[in-house]
Amino acid sequence: MLRYLNGYGPEVKQQVQQLIDNDQLGVWLQRRYPPDSGHAIQTDVALYDYTQRLKQQYMRSSGPISKVFFDTRMHVIDNALGQHQFVSRVQGNKLKRKNEIKVSALLKTLPEALLRMVVVHELAHLREKEHNKAFYQLCQHMQSDYHQLELDLRLFLTFREINGDK
Ligand SMILES: [Zn+2]
Repeated sequence: MLRYLNGYGPEVKQQVQQLIDNDQLGVWLQRRYPPDSGHAIQTDVALYDYTQRLKQQYMRSSGPISKVFFDTRMHVIDNALGQHQFVSRVQGNKLKRKNEIKVSALLKTLPEALLRMVVVHELAHLREKEHNKAFYQLCQHMQSDYHQLELDLRLFLTFREINGDK
């Protein structure tokens, strides 16, 4: 049931289980993310601009991103929050690397802070491929409450699953 929380300790899982048992997880999420927490980033163009702005701010020296898009078939976490692809293409006699980022279309309907967190995650992968300490430091540099937001996103997914949305 708590498959989205696999990486967390027993204390967190127990707290979440308690919220679920008391039918309070939805209330908790609503309180934390009131209806005006949403965002207007609904198209691939808007998502591309949003991602570029964050990159300009924090990751200017990393290679360019060629494409950013919402993927309607992609589940948010199966254990990836989004996906970055480093596509290599031969152009003439040069090997060109292209960075592409895709995120689940479900994020269109979730709070802006959570969309941002996934974009931050994928941007950090431009520099660090692994989920190591340097990677998470980079995430926190771009979004100081990164870890809390990742947990919150997992709670949203848990809540959706309990309520039958896949
Ligand atoms: Zn990752």
